[in-house]
Amino acid sequence: MDPAHAILFEPVKIGPVTAPNRFYQTPHATGFGWQRPQASAALRGVKAEGGWGVVCTEYCSIHPSSDDSPSAYLTLWGEEDVAPLASIADAIHAHGALAGVELWHGGAHASNRLTRLPTLAPQTQPALYHLPTAARAMDLSDIRAFRGWQRDAALRAKRAGFDIVYVYAGHDYLPFQFLSRRTNQRSDAYGGTLENRVRLLREMIEETKDAVGDTCAVALRMAVDELHGPDGVTAEGEGRDIVAMLADLPDLWDVNVAGALGNDSKSARFSGEGYQEDYIRFVKGVTGKPVVSVGRFTSPDRMVSQIKRGVQDFIGAARPSIADPFLPAKIREGRADEIRECIGCNICRAANNEGVSLRCTQNPTMGEEWRKGWHPERIAPHAPDKVLVVGAGPAGLEAALSLGQRGLEVSLAFAERQAGGRINRESTLPGLATWARVRDWRLTMLAKLPNVTLYPESVMTADDVAGFGADHVVLATGSVWRRDGVGVLGMTPRDFAGALTPDDIFAGAKVNGPVVIYDDEHYFMAGALAERLAGQGHDVTYVTPQNLASAWTVYTDEQGFVQARLIEAGVKLVFSRYVTAWVDGALQTDCAYTGRTLPPLPCGTLVLATGRVPVDGLYQTLVGRVASLARVGDCLMPSSMADAIYSAHSYARELGETPQPLRREMPPHRGAL
Ligand code: ADP
Ligand code: SF4
Repeated sequence: MDPAHAILFEPVKIGPVTAPNRFYQTPHATGFGWQRPQASAALRGVKAEGGWGVVCTEYCSIHPSSDDSPSAYLTLWGEEDVAPLASIADAIHAHGALAGVELWHGGAHASNRLTRLPTLAPQTQPALYHLPTAARAMDLSDIRAFRGWQRDAALRAKRAGFDIVYVYAGHDYLPFQFLSRRTNQRSDAYGGTLENRVRLLREMIEETKDAVGDTCAVALRMAVDELHGPDGVTAEGEGRDIVAMLADLPDLWDVNVAGALGNDSKSARFSGEGYQEDYIRFVKGVTGKPVVSVGRFTSPDRMVSQIKRGVQDFIGAARPSIADPFLPAKIREGRADEIRECIGCNICRAANNEGVSLRCTQNPTMGEEWRKGWHPERIAPHAPDKVLVVGAGPAGLEAALSLGQRGLEVSLAFAERQAGGRINRESTLPGLATWARVRDWRLTMLAKLPNVTLYPESVMTADDVAGFGADHVVLATGSVWRRDGVGVLGMTPRDFAGALTPDDIFAGAKVNGPVVIYDDEHYFMAGALAERLAGQGHDVTYVTPQNLASAWTVYTDEQGFVQARLIEAGVKLVFSRYVTAWVDGALQTDCAYTGRTLPPLPCGTLVLATGRVPVDGLYQTLVGRVASLARVGDCLMPSSMADAIYSAHSYARELGETPQPLRREMPPHRGAL
């Protein structure tokens, strides 16, 4: 280990328990919830194995009136929940880490679509999600009952073996709704003055400590700023006052910014490493108890600086621990160059928002620890067969690396001088520089493998490939943006002669204003290109049949930030229109609702970002000529980098293995598959 990093491996006392080091995996969603505890246990166990001193669960509901369906959450509603939760705690303990459980009540945030119980809140107000529900104001008997639910859940958590039990007043959830004037207009002892608004939180901490504090630490997770200005809780105002009022009552402060999760787990496009520091740095000056916070920390030097400058006592991490569960072990073993750094793309957040299990761009094993038995640092050896991989984008690099780690003799051929494929283009877009880590980490790891050879500037023909004499051929030849305007919503192919695609822009095509970017793909590309071209001084109009800019980025918690940035950049936003023709500098569009033709838009350059098609010509000509032939990544299915890497990793893992049925956790009466 680099002696400068030794401070990260000091034990830290948290109330009655002691964390073996300062690496603290803060609670984060997995998409597994109460339905899939075995998958949760395997995932958390890998984190502990990778050296995280504290490993927490995701949000764990204390009562059926806090139901987040269809998103996945854990439950401690009754005794039947104790055994599955214990299996998670056991998996964490097996590697010497402390197990934390984030007890949760969503209040007005909960959907209760599954349980169909009334939604509860400090005051009568529209439920925050799943309108048109109105949350019911809690009366004093509701508050008494609620305190009992927290206490009972804490006792169950203790019986399940957890070491750290949370009181959770972050992210707009119920205890936070009591704290904020915006959501608490009560006139009784739980509303009005700050002391009254803090009352419930104080009672929860005291009663949780009373219930389990003899053996368990009680952590308080709180948003110190809800980013609503002076109307709400702010780090300079009531946030600081609340921390001062409760200073040493909890055993640990886990602090962040709210209100929505998107502010806390902001993508790299909109925030840098350690971006919450300005909000949370005051906390350590107000409490004597240990403090943890997050900030997408992947650099050991920056982590050390956080500790030495007294910003926090732990290095809190959700996404960095997803991208690299073995981050602490790599620092401990002096292998910091091998850290698979989170790129801040928020594909992990998208999984949660879409209601599916966790996935990660950088770490294809994430979420597959139980279902497929994948491990982020181990892969089964294979005979030293010769394999040729064509293409060095995310998929080709991943295939070469994983096959190389299995011991095959790998040749990686690609057309360009620089490996990276689409990464080399996309990481030049505004805010996406961190995406280059996908390439850089793989190139670093490939350089350590003597059995992998890179062949740059090698355009491969079918004859080249067939004559290469490899035992296995893997094509990762990528995709190109389509020119016919076919997209997610507009399925009619059209002739847009002279129009450009993102590929043309990256290749340096000349742009004459006014520029129209037509987005019928809805992820980052059209929005980011609009931002870049506007930044270069072009007159840019963004047109889409959707009602939002970059609509799919709702799932990555980025959409509001994207739209704000486009507005600030002076990009004209035109929604709900299909582009149907481009003639003599005039762009014809139809209303996406009525189908009526609308007045044309001036357009000197049309950029079509509507979808991609696979570059699979090489594959088609090789079918039948090469015995062991596969395609992976975008040339199989144009999609996200995460999907490209996953498909390449799956191929590499499963080469030579007997195909297995997809393992699912089944209800008890059917047994586990
Ligand atoms: P993915 O996202 O699936 O990894 P990319 O589009 O990022 O795909 O990368 C495709 C890669 O395939 C690039 O390195 C490109 O140069 C390479 N490629 C495509 N066709 C050939 C070919 N015939 N010979 C060599 N390399 C090729
Ligand atoms: Fe980081 Fe992206 Fe992986 Fe999430 S999906 S952990 S943001 S690399």
